[in-house]
Amino acid sequence: MSDRKLADEKMKEIEQTASVWGRLLAQEAFPDGPGLDVSLADMEEIAAVATKAIVRGAIGTMAEEQAQSLDRQQPCPVCGKLCDVSRKPRAVAVRGGSAELSEPVAHCSKCRRAFFPSTQSTAD
Ligand SMILES: [Zn+2]
Repeated sequence: MSDRKLADEKMKEIEQTASVWGRLLAQEAFPDGPGLDVSLADMEEIAAVATKAIVRGAIGTMAEEQAQSLDRQQPCPVCGKLCDVSRKPRAVAVRGGSAELSEPVAHCSKCRRAFFPSTQSTAD
């Protein structure tokens, strides 16, 4: 993780928040409580589906916010010409599931090549 990783205290807050979401999820899945016919595997399946959805939503949102922070034009890494940035959807596998990113991409007409402006470098 980068130097800008969240402090341990903030990570504990996020874990506590997610734990509350887990209790809410249980109430959403079984408003009257799970019947005795609901197995541990059934409960695990519900939690796993929710976990993957949280990963998709969180990663997609954070990556989108980074992409939006980029200027509309980025310098070509080869010649330095300012090039218009557009977006290209890309599915990525991440821990705990997958996410759909709207990845910034630019094309340099001078070098006749595409490049992917890094959203990571703006954080430095
Ligand atoms: Zn170029």
